[in-house]
Amino acid sequence: MKKNILRTTLLLTLAVFFSASALAEHNKMNVEKDNKKLKKLLPMLPEYEWSYPYELPDLNYDYDALEPSVDKTTMRIHHSKHHQGYTNGTNAALKGKDYRDKPLISFFNKMDKYSDALRNSGGGFYNHSLFWTFMTPGGNELKGEIKEAINLNFGGFESFKEKFENAAKSQFGSGWAWLVITPDGKLKVTNTANQDNPMMSHAKVQGIPLLNLDVWEHAYYLNYQNKRGSYIQNFWNVVDWTEVNRRYKIARDIMK
Ligand code: MN
Repeated sequence: MKKNILRTTLLLTLAVFFSASALAEHNKMNVEKDNKKLKKLLPMLPEYEWSYPYELPDLNYDYDALEPSVDKTTMRIHHSKHHQGYTNGTNAALKGKDYRDKPLISFFNKMDKYSDALRNSGGGFYNHSLFWTFMTPGGNELKGEIKEAINLNFGGFESFKEKFENAAKSQFGSGWAWLVITPDGKLKVTNTANQDNPMMSHAKVQGIPLLNLDVWEHAYYLNYQNKRGSYIQNFWNVVDWTEVNRRYKIARDIMK
């Protein structure tokens, strides 16, 4: 009797172990497949033109324009110090390198071939450059093709919102929440640690960013302290859906 129980337990343990590792292997293969598909789309994205030497992009609004959702001091320090720092860091990581003139997003697509300095600073430069464009004073209405796509992929805005908020809240430590379009044209929500992004070859979900949210403490601590959840809630008041829709349409068009 005891022997049978032992044997069953052993078999079950082995079954769980092998199905878990088969699943991990399956996910890894999907990431590699999507990474290759993504590579073909890169030259058609507007940010493929971004190249060395990198410059801090201007904001389309004043530092105080997103108040009360994002306060003036946070915006000023975040843009003029943090983003400037990532810009300088990207240039420093590429200085003197024979590959320095390649598009930034092509480095992301083969991130394991390049330095951690380029991964961190280049990611920081790219992620923030997009982030500023996804916000606008007072926000605007979700409409058009992106609204239809969100309804289709998530079963409605409320369930998308919940997924995105969970991705932002559950990112342990510093990182980002993302809405992406996969190379197969599906919308997905994901998160990344540090300054990684879904364009990077090791990201668990490969895709073209359509919306992102910075959940590093430097993005909210002055105004919200430990209340990351309130910061995330208030983000919806300043989202520029017109810009998200514009990027969605570009991404859809290049996949046709
Ligand atoms: Mn930041």
